[in-house]
Amino acid sequence: MALTPMMQQYLSIKEAYKDTLVFFRLGDFYEMFFDDALQASKELEITLTGRDAGLEQRVPMCGVPYHAAEGYIKRLVARGFKIAICEQVEDPAEAKGIVRREVVRVITPGTYLDDGNQESIFIVTIVSPADCPDSGSFSACFVNVITGDVFVDDLLDEEAVVERLLAFQPVELVVTEHTYEQLKASFQQPNLQSITVTLHASLQSAANDQDVLCRQFGSSILEDAAVAGPGIRTACGILLDYIQNTQKRMLPHVKKPQRVNWKDTLILDACSRRNLELTETLRDGKKQGSLFGVIDQTITTMGSRLLKQWLLAPLQRAEAIARRQDAVEELMKDYLIRQDLKPLLRNVYDLERLTAKLSYGTANAKDLIALCQSLEQIPPIKLLIREFQSAEYNGIQKDLCDYEELMDRIAHAIVPDPPISLKDGGLIRDGYHPELDRLRLIAREGKTWIAELEREEREKTTIKSLKIGFNKVFGYYIEVTKTNVHLVPEQYERKQTLANAERYVTAELKQREAEILHAEERLTELEYELFVEVREYIVDHVDTLQRVAHALAKLDVYYALASVAAEHRYVRPVLDLSDVIEIHAGRHPVVEQMLQGRSFVANDTLLNCRDQQIMLITGPNMAGKSTYMRQVALLVILSHIGSFVPASYARIGLVDRVFTRIGAADDLAGGQSTFMVEMVELANILEHATPRSLIVLDEIGRGTSTYDGISIARAVVEYLQDRQQIGAKTLFATHYHELTELGHQLPGVQNFSTHVEDTGDSIIFLRKIIPQPADRSYGIHVAKLAGLPDAVLKRANEILTMLESKGQSGKEVIGELAATATPIQQQEAEAPAQLSLFEGYTKKQEHAKQREKAKEPRDA
Ligand code: ADP
Repeated sequence: MALTPMMQQYLSIKEAYKDTLVFFRLGDFYEMFFDDALQASKELEITLTGRDAGLEQRVPMCGVPYHAAEGYIKRLVARGFKIAICEQVEDPAEAKGIVRREVVRVITPGTYLDDGNQESIFIVTIVSPADCPDSGSFSACFVNVITGDVFVDDLLDEEAVVERLLAFQPVELVVTEHTYEQLKASFQQPNLQSITVTLHASLQSAANDQDVLCRQFGSSILEDAAVAGPGIRTACGILLDYIQNTQKRMLPHVKKPQRVNWKDTLILDACSRRNLELTETLRDGKKQGSLFGVIDQTITTMGSRLLKQWLLAPLQRAEAIARRQDAVEELMKDYLIRQDLKPLLRNVYDLERLTAKLSYGTANAKDLIALCQSLEQIPPIKLLIREFQSAEYNGIQKDLCDYEELMDRIAHAIVPDPPISLKDGGLIRDGYHPELDRLRLIAREGKTWIAELEREEREKTTIKSLKIGFNKVFGYYIEVTKTNVHLVPEQYERKQTLANAERYVTAELKQREAEILHAEERLTELEYELFVEVREYIVDHVDTLQRVAHALAKLDVYYALASVAAEHRYVRPVLDLSDVIEIHAGRHPVVEQMLQGRSFVANDTLLNCRDQQIMLITGPNMAGKSTYMRQVALLVILSHIGSFVPASYARIGLVDRVFTRIGAADDLAGGQSTFMVEMVELANILEHATPRSLIVLDEIGRGTSTYDGISIARAVVEYLQDRQQIGAKTLFATHYHELTELGHQLPGVQNFSTHVEDTGDSIIFLRKIIPQPADRSYGIHVAKLAGLPDAVLKRANEILTMLESKGQSGKEVIGELAATATPIQQQEAEAPAQLSLFEGYTKKQEHAKQREKAKEPRDA
């Protein structure tokens, strides 16, 4: 048996698009066959049928209507599928034999612009040194398909590759089989498992990579330092080639590659980003409850996207940070301008996505109107910020230009409220094009003629209910109910019989119909052509639009940071090259807002690389240790993005990395025990920290036996404070009271605790950090607050007394009791006037000085 010609055509197309689901256009449907049909019917929950293909058995088939395809495509892409759209590329009426079909576009997760998605979408290529022997390291190229940003980077080893992938969170990876094999194990990581991997057939020649680059950016790109190096060129070549091949077009919004400059950014590894809940909470992955949730008061989607980028890659150069701070400060001080800016920004659409859609050739008339409306906001925005002095606003002013011609063109051509579809007319304004106006007149006159005809025929025939209608199959017809059929004149020609009516045509009606339909057909064609012309004209201005989009995004970010600062009383931190982190009355930006009215207790911080390098913090559970430590880390990060901070004063010596090891983030999916995860993270910290780093360690060594735990924790503190080894500023919370000795033994270690008032049978958390170690761990008190049965508490007290009389290790029993406690009813109280941290610290210094003095010879 032989396959039908259509099935042969299908299979030859499928052969070239093996790793995609082929949406094969058959009339009004996209059909899928064989395995594609099995998979798609399951994923989309649509009926699986069969089709005769010339074989003994029918082949599996399922389909979706073409006009509703977008929704199905979206669902499939979200699950990581790639879809090849195969269209009929000639008119079936004119085709000799089987209609020619071609894949016109391949939709992939990394190149798909889904209207609902506000996030950045990254697609990436990694080239291993084995694939590109002239390059000594891995090379990476990342493309953000919404903004068109292209980043390139050399990565030393597999660990660096994984770290970078975690930072960019790409949805699709294009690699050679060879590189993939090498990296495969890394992709078992839970956070990387959802990346769609596309295997690139083979590496192109260097000449081909150059061609691809030149085609996209012009030949001057070959002199650009960003793409120097064979690995980077190969990576760019592969990725741009892939994008061009899937989209079957050049994407003009893709920008020239830029090197990721890690030296200029404060590095946050994936673990710290997660632990500090920078953009989403640990518990449920929501933005609400994260730092981003608090500071994202942006109004536009572009602004929000940019702010998130800033947050994930804070700056490390003081001048660059100061520029941003100046901008925030200026806007913060001007409440009225902020108020006026708000409604203007609200009318600005996501110009980045609009530009990307223009570039993809998928922008519709509504998008152009949205573009026009957004551009209309620019003159009043420029007027509002014209008096601002800071450099950032000057830059923004400059970039907000050259848009009037564009607006005019759109406003003249496109109707104010066009339909989404581009193929049904109704897009172009009257008066824009003479031929269009003429055709419209014909169509309109034809319709008036028909209305007139209806009136005349009613009169002539005396049939009051006679009416003229239209349908797609029969065209125009005269409808007469059965009861009146005897009144129908002779020249009526019967066309169709219904249950209680007959439909007729006449010669002159047919002629008019031909004229109207011809005009309408030509009209929609012409409208589409005119629309595309306008769209192409705008595509030529993609660069300008991207600059405008970025300028508006920045302005929106400054608006957000200024609003947060004003609303929550943040101050401008001093950033310098000192080795100090000094914060007066700092507050946790998220917890402070969650407490809603109940007062958050502000705390001071002083860290330096000398005598207060490690803050060793003890105190019972629930006393506020982690909140305090996270607060310091968050304030440092906020300072580095140019934001103001919740404190009364802050001075931050520039930090190169923030490391955290917080809580018991089980990596059960990854098959590692809590303790193992903890140790891996710790090893990473000890390997990479420098004296400029800030390290936050919470309860190190808890996942093992007490003696192991204490020993590891103590060794870590010693190592961290040793300037020969690391000497990084560290916040270290621990249950092990034994470690408080270190405060007396090591010069850089200072003891702190969270103040707790002991009322005899209960405790009150004062949430105040004080410069002295906790006297005990209050585990049983916390257990009581948590509502443990009296019998258990009584017994625990007995055991405690027993153990304490025997020695140190008794404290651990209580620690464990507390560790398993569920959230408790807290008692709040006003914090009493405490020793300020600095007082405590100064007192200690004075003691030290006095001790030194005592050693000096009395009378020199
Ligand atoms: P610990 O790490 O000592 O077990 P947490 O930092 O988790 O304690 O704090 C427990 C709770 O106490 C937090 O959820 C928060 O609601 C409250 N809290 C912590 N610090 C403060 C503070 N400075 N002011 C007010 N409430 C606080």
